[in-house]
Amino acid sequence: MSYTMNRFVLAHELGHAVLHNDNGSKFFIDEYTCFAPGKFELEANKFAANLLINEKNLKDLLGGDLSSIASELEVPVQLVKIKIGEIIGHTLW
Ligand SMILES: [Zn+2]
Repeated sequence: MSYTMNRFVLAHELGHAVLHNDNGSKFFIDEYTCFAPGKFELEANKFAANLLINEKNLKDLLGGDLSSIASELEVPVQLVKIKIGEIIGHTLW
């Protein structure tokens, strides 16, 4: 697993541990299911996006293409999209 995916999967699973530890379920690291649809997966991805992506750093990089931004931030492209959605959801720009 690449360094970028390692960071993402750990942050994603930490999100499950913090957000979803009250239902008795066990979550397992699986790089192929982390972006699966579903409420819990989206919540874990939002947690990972907020943990790994600094909003100011992201804004400084906007204008470039998504894959360059993702590579600069060392996160998957999908996480950049989620973080941008989070920012748009609570600020106007
Ligand atoms: Zn998950």
